[in-house]
Amino acid sequence: MDNYRLTAPRYEAMPYRRCGRSGLLLPAVSLGFWHNFGEAADPDVCRKIVETAFDHGVTYFDLANNYGPPYGSAETTFGRIFGQSLRPHRDEIIIATKAGYDMWPGPYGEWGSRKYLMASLDQSLKRMGLDYVDIFYSHRPDPLTPLEETMQALVDIVRCGKALYAGISNYPADMAAQAYAYLREAHVPCLVYQGRYNMLDREHEADILPQAAADGVGYVAFSPLAQGLLTDRYLDGIPADSRMRTSQYLNENALTPELLAQLRKWNEEARAEGVTLAQYALRWILRRPEVTSVIVGARTVEQLLDSLSAAGA
Ligand code: NDP
Repeated sequence: MDNYRLTAPRYEAMPYRRCGRSGLLLPAVSLGFWHNFGEAADPDVCRKIVETAFDHGVTYFDLANNYGPPYGSAETTFGRIFGQSLRPHRDEIIIATKAGYDMWPGPYGEWGSRKYLMASLDQSLKRMGLDYVDIFYSHRPDPLTPLEETMQALVDIVRCGKALYAGISNYPADMAAQAYAYLREAHVPCLVYQGRYNMLDREHEADILPQAAADGVGYVAFSPLAQGLLTDRYLDGIPADSRMRTSQYLNENALTPELLAQLRKWNEEARAEGVTLAQYALRWILRRPEVTSVIVGARTVEQLLDSLSAAGA
């Protein structure tokens, strides 16, 4: 362990939760790379965010082939930071990537075929400079590819050592049930389901959360702050540097007068408890025993530190 040197009390404050019935513990707060790590992002800020996260006990970094923009660039950014600061700590961190959405042109660049998943993971490993990822996800269900083909690709990816665990994301409950059964029978049990869950979107309470718990599968919540809506960002107008102004994925129409009134009410409740709205929203998710981790996005170190406080880290 020549390279290993603890540079911060990083494991003291962060709570770690068991991911389903697996042997793997994940931090209550994880860091996602969907936004803020593309080519336009300041490399120094990106690096600072990642180092700050790790120094506060964030051991799970969530990527996907198409995060950027452009596609692939978030993995390239992560790969650079990994090479600069995280490589000596490889055995202390969980790196996940995914394939499922459109990545390259032609019939083999998206969805759930064996061809696509295998090729995409090889590309992701190259971009990040890794031999393996810890978790590889099927990013979305494919209505046309037999589920068995997609699942067998995940099994083979784990068996050949390019990923340690398999996960699924955005699957409806009936396909998730089939996926869990297939993977269990193949002795590569599904580690984790990744889904959208936050104070504004509680759909998964009805089926996905109890199902994951019953099947011994962990659950990690993405967009836990509803892309920034569940923070103080939009309480007094729309900031020029906000995702609502800079990304196609968060539309101004989402900010209805009713929603704004609700956000202000929650903000008052949060203040009464002495926390920020972001912390209030993250704690609300973490109260659920089925939830292993919330995957936050962060554009600045300050945002990250604020969100980390929700878990006491
Ligand atoms: P969030 O809901 O955490 O939104 C992040 C945004 O909220 C930031 O960019 C910032 O907005 C704002 N923000 C964050 N923290 C604070 C704070 N403390 N105070 C004020 N504002 C704050 O998550 P994302 O939507 O970014 O998703 C998180 C991760 O989940 C992704 O990176 C990805 O890894 C995963 N994901 C997975 C999906 C899937 O299909 N499996 C889909 C979507 C996400 P601003 O930039 O405006 O300042």
